[in-house]
Amino acid sequence: MMANKDLTFAKAVREADYVVADGIGLIIGSKILGHPLKERIPGVELMQELLDLASRNHFSVYLYGAKPEVLKKLHTVIKDSYPGVSIAGYSDGYTSSPEEVAKQIEATTPDLVFVALGAPKQEKWIDHHYPNFSKGVFVGVGGSFDVLSGTVKRAPKIWRTLNLEWLYRIIKQPSRWKRALLLPAYLAAIVRIRLRQK
Ligand code: UDP
Repeated sequence: MMANKDLTFAKAVREADYVVADGIGLIIGSKILGHPLKERIPGVELMQELLDLASRNHFSVYLYGAKPEVLKKLHTVIKDSYPGVSIAGYSDGYTSSPEEVAKQIEATTPDLVFVALGAPKQEKWIDHHYPNFSKGVFVGVGGSFDVLSGTVKRAPKIWRTLNLEWLYRIIKQPSRWKRALLLPAYLAAIVRIRLRQK
């Protein structure tokens, strides 16, 4: 829905090597369109898996995004829980100059770069700077730093099993309501595409 209105974001999504379905709406939409996606992959779980991989293979990681205090806590969590990871550098998502962050990453050539600025900021930043990087996997992970640092709690298991994690997040952060208001328009768009397919 965002990409329909924002062409820079649309380009970033189109040019990504992988697009991961982190939302039950995408799973439902894919079923309606007759190309069902296997499962939902929450960004926070993707980040945990990648950190695990990084720890086992002694990869270097750069962390970009979130508030300074969140980043500090996350740094400690990674040191304690993923001892094989070396932190190439980090920068919070508010005070630092985005250009300066890109330069630091160019200089330190980390294996993995987690960008947690929220959508569409993180995708645009990655897409804009990607051509200057000589190596590395760049992943937009939204609010994952908040969760992995222990600052924000993920929805309890029952909410996740019922595919209601999105509702839990709205209740906890009412500012997210604006996004939920797009849901009826999203479903209508999917149904329109389905009818055209027929
Ligand atoms: N954020 C940031 N800089 C900004 C705006 C947001 O670092 O200018 C961070 C914010 O602190 C939070 C994350 O980006 O950690 C966005 O989380 P959200 O749950 O909104 O992500 P989304 O749902 O968009 O994936």
